[in-house]
Amino acid sequence: METKPSAASECIICHEVKLQGIRICGQFICSTCEQDIVHSDVQDARYQHYVNEMKRIWWSALALDSNNTQV
Ligand SMILES: [Zn+2]
Repeated sequence: METKPSAASECIICHEVKLQGIRICGQFICSTCEQDIVHSDVQDARYQHYVNEMKRIWWSALALDSNNTQV
């Protein structure tokens, strides 16, 4: 997976400014949190936290996308 170490960004999960990570829908997830998500168990409380944070990303992306769509 490609990473872009050129610019530091604030991770939407841990809210720390990191150099390495991935971007999803314009949001940044640091490589530490990404690994945590991949390795965390579905039963783990942290996983639920990640899922909730991810949902916020999806919803904000959908909101931008669905300006002309009645829900
Ligand atoms: Zn992070």
